Amino acid sequence: MYQSSTNLRGQSPVSVIGAGIAGAWQALLFAQSGRSVTLHERSDERLTQSTSYWAGGMLAPWCEAESSEPVIVRLGLRSLNLWRDYFPETPFNGSLVVAHARDRADFERFARLTSGYQRLDALAIREIEPSLEGRFREGLFYAGEGHVEPRKILPELHARIRSFGGRIEFDSEVEPDDIEGVVIDCRGLAARDKQNELRGVKGELILIETDEVELSRPVRLIHPRFTLYVIPRGEGRFMLGATSIETESAGVSVRSALELLGSAYTVHPAFGEARILEFGSGLRPAFPDNLPRIAIDNEKIAVNGLYRHGFLLAPALAELTLHYVERGTIDNEVMQCA
Ligand SMILES: Cc1cc2nc3c(=O)[nH]c(=O)nc-3n(C[C@H](O)[C@H](O)[C@H](O)COP(=O)(O)OP(=O)(O)OC[C@H]3O[C@@H](n4cnc5c(N)ncnc54)[C@H](O)[C@@H]3O)c2cc1C
Repeated sequence: MYQSSTNLRGQSPVSVIGAGIAGAWQALLFAQSGRSVTLHERSDERLTQSTSYWAGGMLAPWCEAESSEPVIVRLGLRSLNLWRDYFPETPFNGSLVVAHARDRADFERFARLTSGYQRLDALAIREIEPSLEGRFREGLFYAGEGHVEPRKILPELHARIRSFGGRIEFDSEVEPDDIEGVVIDCRGLAARDKQNELRGVKGELILIETDEVELSRPVRLIHPRFTLYVIPRGEGRFMLGATSIETESAGVSVRSALELLGSAYTVHPAFGEARILEFGSGLRPAFPDNLPRIAIDNEKIAVNGLYRHGFLLAPALAELTLHYVERGTIDNEVMQCA
């Protein structure tokens, strides 16, 4: 961290473009700091054109350490505190990682690459997730992790922005160069006109419903090709996710559907009787190094590349941007100045 000589400390208005998870947190922290904030979003309130609409919403810095750089864990841990401060109702009841006996080597590899867990035997798994009784011999329990439901938390974030005096304009498609003052560009993949290294990494998901299984927290099943997660959404609904495929094609392939549903069936056979409510896919905005970036060019600031960690990182990235604008503080790991 260091202090830059740039001074944006006046009270110039702040425009945020994109009301997905990155832009919503930016608008929230700037509005709370007393700035005049306008958040522009090209979609309507449902945000169906955003990647955030399709996400799992897991806040899992310890699990993500398996495949991420340390900076993701550092920012993720800071974000957990911000989620707790601003949304105390967020469930922080941990996540559970399990594997079938044949995938034991991958399970141990996951354990070696991560921290912040407690090993559970079959009895302890039954205690925290009674529906999984007899299904797995051991598990890893990451007690400090949380999760949010994107389609519920995004409208809550938008309401909170308004409660701090921020304005939100839906159906408002704007470009950073059209606007005066401080502009925070959170357009996700649509920002490729300015950040041409961005690519989309497809994630597919399936929403199912059954009364036969009850889970209190996300469960990850270690699998040689991808980790399946089952996230409880309440009222008997579960999100099964997510693939990670280097393509920008839309939709869910037959192969992915077979793998997601087949893996869920091995977590609990009752998932075989569940009703399928929805198939969906989203494109994770990613830079070549899969790390987030805050790119600063005078009053134009672009926050992008949140890849598979948008919900995990958005609060900490918003705090860094606010500290830059208010105090000139630079975080060398994520900020790039023109
Ligand atoms: C299947 C799946 C599961 C995932 N699970 C998780 C998870 O469990 N935990 C986690 O942390 N992350 C997860 N992610 C990753 C996360 O969803 C992304 O990192 C995050 O959504 C990116 O957010 P964003 O705000 O940068 O982009 P977006 O959500 O795409 O938001 C950009 C917004 O900008 C708007 N916009 C674009 N151009 C304009 C314009 N010109 N004017 C106005 N508005 C504009 C768009 O309409 C959009 O609403 C998952 C992703 C997928 C696909």
